[in-house]
Amino acid sequence: MAKKQFKAESKRLLDLMINSIYTHKEIFLREIISNASDAIDKLCYRSLTDDQVGMDRGDFFIEVKVDKDKRTITVSDNGIGMDKDELENNLGVIAASGSYQFRQEAGQSEDVDIIGQFGVGFYSAFMVADEITVVTKKYGAEQAYRWNSTGADGYTISECEKDGVGTDIVMHIKEDTEDEKYSEYLDHYRLYSLVKKYSDYIRYPIRMLTPVQKKKEGCDPEKPEYETVQEVQTVNSMVPLWQRKRSEVTDEEYAKFYAELARDFEKPQRVITVSVEGSVTYKALMFVPSKKPFNYNTEDFERGLQLYSAGVMIMDKCDALLPEYLRFVRGVVDSPDLSLNISRELLQHDRQLKVIAKNLEKKVLADLEKFMKDDREGYEKFYANYGRSIDFGIAGEGGGERKDELKDLLLFYSSTEKKLTSLREYVDRMPESQKCIYYAAGESIALIDALPQTELLKEKNFEVLYLTGEADEFVLQTLQNYADKPFRSIVDGDLELDGGEEEAVDEKEELMRFVKETLGDKIKEAKASHRLKTHPACMSAGTGFSFEMEKYFKNFDMAEPMRADRVLELNTKHPSVLAMETAMQNDRPKAELYAKLLYNQALLIAGLPLDDPSGYTDMVAELMK
Ligand code: ADP
Repeated sequence: MAKKQFKAESKRLLDLMINSIYTHKEIFLREIISNASDAIDKLCYRSLTDDQVGMDRGDFFIEVKVDKDKRTITVSDNGIGMDKDELENNLGVIAASGSYQFRQEAGQSEDVDIIGQFGVGFYSAFMVADEITVVTKKYGAEQAYRWNSTGADGYTISECEKDGVGTDIVMHIKEDTEDEKYSEYLDHYRLYSLVKKYSDYIRYPIRMLTPVQKKKEGCDPEKPEYETVQEVQTVNSMVPLWQRKRSEVTDEEYAKFYAELARDFEKPQRVITVSVEGSVTYKALMFVPSKKPFNYNTEDFERGLQLYSAGVMIMDKCDALLPEYLRFVRGVVDSPDLSLNISRELLQHDRQLKVIAKNLEKKVLADLEKFMKDDREGYEKFYANYGRSIDFGIAGEGGGERKDELKDLLLFYSSTEKKLTSLREYVDRMPESQKCIYYAAGESIALIDALPQTELLKEKNFEVLYLTGEADEFVLQTLQNYADKPFRSIVDGDLELDGGEEEAVDEKEELMRFVKETLGDKIKEAKASHRLKTHPACMSAGTGFSFEMEKYFKNFDMAEPMRADRVLELNTKHPSVLAMETAMQNDRPKAELYAKLLYNQALLIAGLPLDDPSGYTDMVAELMK
């Protein structure tokens, strides 16, 4: 029979498995069992709507068998099975999400860790087996097929006999080497422990032939004799974790469940349990992951919770259960009230589902608030990962409606505290005379801190929030105020410091007119600055649309680019501005040169592009002559 070749990426992954030096090779069993469980899910779901299947939930099971003499482990399921095309497409190519992630993440040398982090599905069996045979019959098909591979040199597919529908995965275990005792996987107890360890919550019984001590029949009750017989036993406990009381489940059990669910072996930061009985009855178990999935901000990231109806999974990633901004939350929801044959489209409009979704959102937010109170360090770690999602909850579509629920979850860097602060903490520290909450936006804390506009507030020791997130300004704009205190940009807005505190400045109106005439349309106006202390000039935007917003919108393809107004503020006490004033009287070309120079410098400090960089350097060179 002609051997077919694996697709290139699959071959690479396969090579890696075959030659793996990964220490936790044992995970292969988890991967194979989890595939079996998925296959049963598919047929079980079908059986609910299709009488032809003729099977009940209780009829499904997974079986793990060992043959020490033949050195084989067989994992069988009576799930959906595969037809010839599926065998070809599913096992000849890396189609799988897990494997895809693997490829995305795997650097040249970090392969080993990746196996542990994601699991790599079916192929992982090649870490312990030198030959794999898959015998499978698809539900509804007459013909069964046999897929066989001894590794990287390819695979064969042939017709074969098989009684019922489902799949047998037969793994021929490698011979022991000096470093690896593969034979351990042929040991009953070792396999049993692996099923317990990794697959305890699989919802279908995992059966194993288990040696048990039995009293010999007919023996003398006074002097009982025992013998070892093989008995089929269900190994896994199956009770879904979300059906158990929180107080009865350990952190480790939650972590293990989460690892299975999210394929993330780092403990989740938060575990949120919900149990509601009433007009809609449901249980939910949700997790906040400790680290951000690598594709979190891409279109590849699939959000949503697993949706079950009375223990049967109806959807893997149901995105209608939580609003988009909480897309980082993973978990399961189980409600016996949901109709099983509901379609994805209908689910979006399902009234009960909406009730559940609203409540889950509330529970997550309440938990995050508690998180911030109880474990600030942990919360800040969470915020570094998902703060942007909270921003999006406020500044995104419909955010205005939930801004009050989210505003206390925000954190910003504080100029005086030199660390993250919440709006509540800021307001609590505010002196009575302070009217506004001050902020400045920019690319980094260091750049904002160096802005000329921050000088005055620093001198007066006002606390300023430094906004470095790209959506931060939009968030504050949506909020408008916090505890009745309006937000005020120290870069652009009127500072509204108390009258007494603001020093009078010489407005130098004639000079300002001259600068405006010289620069023309490049600026909206030139004016004497009330906030500059040692710097000669800065650029501020009119109210409403800031430079940071202008930079943000630059990334979008827009017919008419959004532009913030440019107001050139000049420090009328600064020697360079005074020099310009003197030149205005007796050397107009020089005064014009100075005006242009100050304008360009203000652009540079604001992080805005110069209109004509080489023209600018020529001007500076001119001065040096
Ligand atoms: P993943 O499980 O991440 O999709 P795998 O490499 O483990 O990736 O499996 C590839 C595909 O092969 C599965 O998605 C599934 O379609 C199919 N498959 C694997 N095992 C079975 C099985 N026991 N029954 C039916 N289909 C299976």
